[in-house]
Amino acid sequence: MKLIFEKSVPGRKLSLLPACDVEEYVLPEAFARREALDLPEMSETDVSRHYTELCHNVHGVNCGFYPLGSCTMKYNPRIDEEMASLPGFTDVHPLAPAYATEGCREVLDTAKKYLCEISGMDEMTFQPAAGAHGEFTGVMLIKQYHRSRGDEKRTKIIVPDSAHGTNPATAAMCGFDVVNIASAPNGCVDLEALKAVLGDDTAGLMLTNPNTVGIFDENILEITRLVHDAGGLCYYDGANLNAVMGIVRPGDMGFDCIHMNLHKTFATPHGGGGPGAGAVGCKSFLKEFMPRSATMQGEGGIQVRGFSGNFLVVVKAMTYLLTLGREGVPEAAVNAVLNANYLMQRIKGTFTPAFDRICMHEFVLDLSEFKKETGVSALDVAKTLIDYGMHPPTMYFPLIVHEALMLEPTETESKETLDWAAEIFRKLYQMGHDDPSYMHAAPHHAQIGRPDEVGAARNPVLRWKKA
Ligand SMILES: *Cc1c(COP(=O)(O)O)cnc(C)c1O
Repeated sequence: MKLIFEKSVPGRKLSLLPACDVEEYVLPEAFARREALDLPEMSETDVSRHYTELCHNVHGVNCGFYPLGSCTMKYNPRIDEEMASLPGFTDVHPLAPAYATEGCREVLDTAKKYLCEISGMDEMTFQPAAGAHGEFTGVMLIKQYHRSRGDEKRTKIIVPDSAHGTNPATAAMCGFDVVNIASAPNGCVDLEALKAVLGDDTAGLMLTNPNTVGIFDENILEITRLVHDAGGLCYYDGANLNAVMGIVRPGDMGFDCIHMNLHKTFATPHGGGGPGAGAVGCKSFLKEFMPRSATMQGEGGIQVRGFSGNFLVVVKAMTYLLTLGREGVPEAAVNAVLNANYLMQRIKGTFTPAFDRICMHEFVLDLSEFKKETGVSALDVAKTLIDYGMHPPTMYFPLIVHEALMLEPTETESKETLDWAAEIFRKLYQMGHDDPSYMHAAPHHAQIGRPDEVGAARNPVLRWKKA
């Protein structure tokens, strides 16, 4: 597909504006552009077709199944978008006086009340713009807490090897040494490995539960108790709360602070790099270290982002929670878990689950045996799925499973879709044995097949230059 600049035809115009009927104002020379802007010249029809074509080349939740594990690519109800586009929310200025922003503050307060209830936390900020940003904010709370007590020797953050890559990155960015611990064979925290690294230099532990293999850690209370006994704090990576919202609370599991990705669990579409929100919650003893400006008014003090962060994302989260209500929130979680288990059971006869037990909202397939038998890798399977209209699952994550495919169907998929997906997986399993070379070369029907990922990372070309 050509870039819009390459489609430009000199002199072609789209006339949207009527002829100017007021006196033209000429900008002072100092502000004037030195050279003409090199914009594409196109008709309205061609612009419309260009963007529609782009749109057709993207696979979103509205196009089809999108089981991208750990990312919760679920359907986001339209009403949430509608509420977030009300002019009273979109047109408000962050410096508007308090009397003019009461409604917005009520949104923030309401969302905070519900999300504190769901997470078992006492205080919350909506400033962080993403999950990783929330982790940074949360781990800084831990740092401030130890510092405020003069406990400067706590320099280590413990992170299990199943963690999302942002966890060790966050700990390092906050100036901590990262201590990796190996998971037990069942994918959970190895208690002995944890005990071995705990000490008076432990600042805290970062944990995802259910973890990244989709299993709820049975020893969670013991884990948080051990960390607390050593004088450390417990950070909950709640990027994805789909399996537990309204069922169990991180606060009750013994966690002291948490972030939640409103753009995964709470109704903001994501994946295209749009605005998100990593709401950070904490127990009351950490409240004094929270970023300021929980209201629309900037109050100064520590801030990780201006004002109240991405406010409209909070509007969507609040709308989502109000529409689901007290019964709907846990029901969504139950259905997310049911759907994941159903799909895992349907696929199980062919590809092998990495952990063959009841899963939470997601599960991981281990394709190493399949690869040994057929030479077809998890990457080949993922690429072939594209040809069948399915977004590939998360690949090669978590790192503790080799040839991993991680599937999270979410609660918004029907039984028919799950049956269809299971059928595709069965087909690809067979294809791996019958026609592996077809799969090595897949996808056969996509705009881009197998980009040079290493080349793209090493020598990124981020700007288009006219020939
Ligand atoms: C998505 C995710 C993150 C990071 O969230 P971003 O908004 O992408 O920064 C962190 N931890 C887990 C477990 C996640 O799934």
